[in-house]
Amino acid sequence: MMVKKGGYWPRGNRVAVTLSFDFDAETLWLSRNPENAKRPVLLSHGAYGYKVAVPRILETLRKHRIPATFFVPGWVAERHPGLVKEIQNQGHEVGHHGYLHEHPQTLQESEERKILKKGTRILEGILGEKPRGYRSPAWEYSSRTLSLLSEHGFLYTSAMMDDELPYQYESGLVELPVQWLLDDACFFLFSPTQPISRVIASPDWVFSIWKNEFDGFYKDGHYFLLTMHPQYTGRPHRIQMLERLIRHIKRQKGVWFARCIDVAEHWVSRK
Ligand code: ZN
Repeated sequence: MMVKKGGYWPRGNRVAVTLSFDFDAETLWLSRNPENAKRPVLLSHGAYGYKVAVPRILETLRKHRIPATFFVPGWVAERHPGLVKEIQNQGHEVGHHGYLHEHPQTLQESEERKILKKGTRILEGILGEKPRGYRSPAWEYSSRTLSLLSEHGFLYTSAMMDDELPYQYESGLVELPVQWLLDDACFFLFSPTQPISRVIASPDWVFSIWKNEFDGFYKDGHYFLLTMHPQYTGRPHRIQMLERLIRHIKRQKGVWFARCIDVAEHWVSRK
């Protein structure tokens, strides 16, 4: 079968690229186990996100003039409204990411609805507009998530792993596909005790995977959507790796750096 190469992106661009950041802070740990609330050192992994990493990431994006998307749980936004507003002021998109990073497949319908509304209300209060994008915590959906998102007026969601291009559900909701190998957590998420412990990856290794994956997406004109977490990618040596990747991507012709919302809007409007 002939696969259509490229031709998907505005102004003749060959490839679309989004840098997305899931600003989970402490909720990454609190949602895994409520007992983690008693572990200040473990929670401080997440606090590094707002204390150090998000400002460093914003500075990096400003330097390279790249608009990005940040998915923020309501619990984090409530505690750091100034930083969330600053993300928006710098031209980035802020999307919905649950309240306390609840995994949708574990929720009752009433809880899932409540969390969707609560996260939206908190972000709207800070941003002055409702978020139109959603990324499910832990990249899971319940059997109801997609219909609830349509019902609540979301334009897009981002969690499926079955494609390299956006697509639309019957409801019109756009899916922006992701993949674990294009997520920093698989390589850098570490804690010395349970729940998660693994060897910390070298950024050179991660760079080679992300670069080669990008090169393939570029060849086929697909949508390169990277998912990062400030508490992991915000470390100095990893930011250097991200900058190396940005420079590699920028050396190619016809690259459209866009926020998730721009890609979703383009996808529904293209003929
Ligand atoms: Zn998350």
